[in-house]
Amino acid sequence: KEGRGIYRIYSPEMGSTMRRYHYLLEEMRVALDTNCFFLSFQPIIHVDGSAISYFEALVRWQHPAEGTIAPTEFIPIAEDSNLILKLGDWILEEACRQMAAWYNAGMSKTRISVNLSGIQLKHRRIHEWVMECLDKMSLPANSLMLEITESCFIDISDSIIDELNKLRAEGVIIAIDDFGTGFSSLSVLANLPVDVLKIDKLFISEATKNKKYHKILHSIAELSTRLDLKVVAEGIEEIEQLELLKSLGVVYIQGYLVSRPESSANVGSRVLKQSAN
Ligand code: C2E
Ligand code: CA
Ligand code: CA
Ligand code: CA
Repeated sequence: KEGRGIYRIYSPEMGSTMRRYHYLLEEMRVALDTNCFFLSFQPIIHVDGSAISYFEALVRWQHPAEGTIAPTEFIPIAEDSNLILKLGDWILEEACRQMAAWYNAGMSKTRISVNLSGIQLKHRRIHEWVMECLDKMSLPANSLMLEITESCFIDISDSIIDELNKLRAEGVIIAIDDFGTGFSSLSVLANLPVDVLKIDKLFISEATKNKKYHKILHSIAELSTRLDLKVVAEGIEEIEQLELLKSLGVVYIQGYLVSRPESSANVGSRVLKQSAN
């Protein structure tokens, strides 16, 4: 996989890592046919509570023997094997189906945010695929945000940029995820088809402890304002972090301080209770 002329010295740990990898790969094929995946939803809110809030859909795997397996473990395996295409189709459809159910229950001020993998960008005709899914559930395009990690933008092709721009023209919101970790040059920001920048939680956790991170965060916030990008800070766990971000003018936040990812049933009952008050 890494090319010819490369050798590796075998170690027992490699054996168990490889076994786990192939085991999960085989199990994932079964899981896709037996409904073993589900979505959790984590709110992204405006600090003053007024504007539209989003729910980020985060995929979970409920394995019959292993219990819940984390996406950080299985998404990379799904990406290597292209199973991410089938899984990703299910994720978008399920997220839209849930959004439609919430709409019909009267939650008109919520939107959904879905993570996309670089493999999906390369292999799906994103514009057609997303619009078909929205149409099928009778959802307006602006009810959907798509999160694409910064690293996907580094060697992005013109045709993918085209697809993203077509989606934006329809009203779909495009976000750069994990911003600050992907080593893209800042000037690239000016030309990318994006509306929202999600600052990686690393910056949030470091900024209250480390002056340099604080300064970088400050600059990102300022730059985004100048470029008319909305900023979401992810991974907010402490009041102190929230206060710092507010002082920097960042108004969209996500993190355990607000809520952990929750089941759709919990999200529904909580939001409906709030809007009834
Ligand atoms: P991400 O897109 O950056 O998602 C945010 C992760 O941070 C989630 O982990 C979330 O539970 C966690 N998180 C949220 N608030 C806090 C906080 O205050 N503190 C801390 N320490 N963590 C917080 P999760 O659900 O384990 O997902 C991990 C990653 O797996 C995601 O990172 C994303 O890259 C990937 N992933 C999850 N769901 C999907 C999906 O549906 N499709 C794709 N392609 N990737 C997904
Ligand atoms: Ca994300
Ligand atoms: Ca992120
Ligand atoms: Ca991440």
